[in-house]
Amino acid sequence: MPSTISRSQLIGLKVYTMDAKYVGVIKDVGFDLNNPSNIMLIIETGAGKIVELPMKAISAVGDIVLLSKDVEIPEAKETVSETMVSATKPVQVSPTTQVTVSQPAKQATPTAPVTTTTPVQWAIPRCPKCGSALIYYPQYRRWYCPKCREYVNVSPEILARVPRCPTCGNYLSYIEQYGKWYCYQCQKYVNV
Ligand SMILES: [Zn+2]
Ligand SMILES: [Zn+2]
Repeated sequence: MPSTISRSQLIGLKVYTMDAKYVGVIKDVGFDLNNPSNIMLIIETGAGKIVELPMKAISAVGDIVLLSKDVEIPEAKETVSETMVSATKPVQVSPTTQVTVSQPAKQATPTAPVTTTTPVQWAIPRCPKCGSALIYYPQYRRWYCPKCREYVNVSPEILARVPRCPTCGNYLSYIEQYGKWYCYQCQKYVNV
């Protein structure tokens, strides 16, 4: 291997053992605090697990990283390293401007609080677990929680108060982000 290689050259490379077994992808490079000259490769093996291997385990670097013959791959552990924690943190922070904590993460852009203009006679089917507005999929005739990623049964009392599409007659889904009702059959917003 070359005597100098930059961190950015290593990150993202796939790691294989000498006998062509896939180990994982290099996510980061770290130092062993007890021995700072010992640079560690932080390799994600999939499913959020990582292994750490010393830099000296590398045999060759090219389009992939090839490990030396006698390297033993330690058992993968859950990602608890500093780098992984900081990488995932911002996603988990819910903006303070959110009305409820139940909005899906992808809607977490700090928009102004949603003031609902929905007439009181309409009911918004919501997920009993997280409170998200449910999506009605006409092709399955079922209600789906985009946050919990599962289908939810809606009581007939609520269904009776859900507005329907004037074009196709299917139930409308309330899009909290825009405060509007949407028909997933016609793929358009509907004024109710
Ligand atoms: Zn839910
Ligand atoms: Zn429709």
